[in-house]
Amino acid sequence: MLAGVPSQADVVVVGAGATGAACAAFLAEAGLQVVCVERRALAQAGARWVNGVPRAAFQQAGVALPEPPEHRGGPSPFHLVLPRELVCARGPAATIMEHDVIHVDMRHLVARLQARAAKAGVRFLPEVAVHGWAQGQAETSLATDAGELRARIFVDASGLTGARLLEQPAVARADLCAAAQAVHELADRAAAQAFLAEVGGRPGESVGFVGVAGGFSVLNVYVDHELETVSILTGSIPALGHPSGKAMLERFVREHAWVGPPCFGGSAAIPLRRPYERLTSERVALLGDAGCQVFSAHGSGVGAGLIAARALADTLARGGTLRQWEVAWQREHGALLGAFDALRRFTQQLDGASVARLFASGLMEPELMKAGLNQEQPQLTLRALRTQVPALWRALRDEPALATAMLSAAARSRMVAALYAQYPEEPRQVPAWSRAVDWLLRG
Ligand SMILES: Cc1cc2nc3c(=O)[nH]c(=O)nc-3n(C[C@H](O)[C@H](O)[C@H](O)COP(=O)(O)OP(=O)(O)OC[C@H]3O[C@@H](n4cnc5c(N)ncnc54)[C@H](O)[C@@H]3O)c2cc1C
Repeated sequence: MLAGVPSQADVVVVGAGATGAACAAFLAEAGLQVVCVERRALAQAGARWVNGVPRAAFQQAGVALPEPPEHRGGPSPFHLVLPRELVCARGPAATIMEHDVIHVDMRHLVARLQARAAKAGVRFLPEVAVHGWAQGQAETSLATDAGELRARIFVDASGLTGARLLEQPAVARADLCAAAQAVHELADRAAAQAFLAEVGGRPGESVGFVGVAGGFSVLNVYVDHELETVSILTGSIPALGHPSGKAMLERFVREHAWVGPPCFGGSAAIPLRRPYERLTSERVALLGDAGCQVFSAHGSGVGAGLIAARALADTLARGGTLRQWEVAWQREHGALLGAFDALRRFTQQLDGASVARLFASGLMEPELMKAGLNQEQPQLTLRALRTQVPALWRALRDEPALATAMLSAAARSRMVAALYAQYPEEPRQVPAWSRAVDWLLRG
């Protein structure tokens, strides 16, 4: 047993990134004895770059909204721009004027959540890696660099390449987004402004180049209001033959002399597949990227992880079981993530030219895109229908194959959500339920 660590904690959380640190904090605040193991130094744990996170996720999770320097801007207009070779006229293909997403410096958010956890009494074990279960002690004692660790419950928040405490299957390569994000100084403010003006943006607004490396790809550029830094986010699916997010980012920097020296950032893979159909056993829960609790349409896991952590801690605090958390979470939040996975699978089959035709068809309606950005189901309001129905009609006439494929994906997305709302209470029924979801997702 490790020195200074309770012989048996209520909960051991593996991973002190955003999800693990938040979960540890919420559990300790509810009065549980919590140990959090992290293989890196605490100051190096979790995401070390800038992420876009909807403010609503903080509110739902009970985490105060970020303040500067953690908050690096937004919400602000988000322009979607097609690559130059695909369009004759420059300027945004669409602009989402109002949405809920802010730019968050994850280094500060992770540190804030860790500090909150420490204040609530969480015992952190930094630079200690978990290697799996101790010999013959599955689900009771963990083997770590520093000895065995016992607990009543284990939360695996160790990310995509972590401890795999439920021996969850590896994520298929076609379901992995290779993402990169970096903040750079500006070497030439006037040139940066000219670049933005050419594509219809301004400092303090986001410009997202879509279809640059296949239908599921992004290259977002955000020059701050004060013209001090530029934040670049890229992502793609290399398994489909596209350059990685890191390669895209490096190329963008090379080709734009106004981008100055790097300040910070990083790159890693994001799981895009729907959440695992089983997130728990009797004593183990998968949380965050470890459970594929990611909004797959744009590979966003921070908000989903915080919300899942809150729900898990609340369930345990009121004496509920891991399985109760799992059923409730899959029915409500799994439904949203699963539904958007159907749309992600549709977009990743497209090439840049199809993305351009999709925008030209009018099918990419701003209200729909806003819902996607905010990570919420689009509402079928009368106002939206007034623009969507004629656009759909035109698209079916001008782009029948594309419009039919999109309609089919939208219908499957709704059916997946409906199926998730029926996530079985009875574990034995989960495999059949899961096969039905996969059948719908395959289309
Ligand atoms: C470049 C990039 C850009 C992104 N942009 C966005 C975005 O804009 N919006 C958004 O919401 N999401 C974004 N994401 C995804 C987001 O960063 C992740 O979903 C989120 O960080 C997942 O948090 P997590 O705590 O679940 O896992 P992680 O951040 O991976 O944390 C897991 C922790 O567990 C530790 N660990 C791993 N294995 C072990 C072990 N065996 N023993 C002990 N500790 C272990 C790790 O060291 C790590 O600190 C982006 C990802 C990347 C790579």
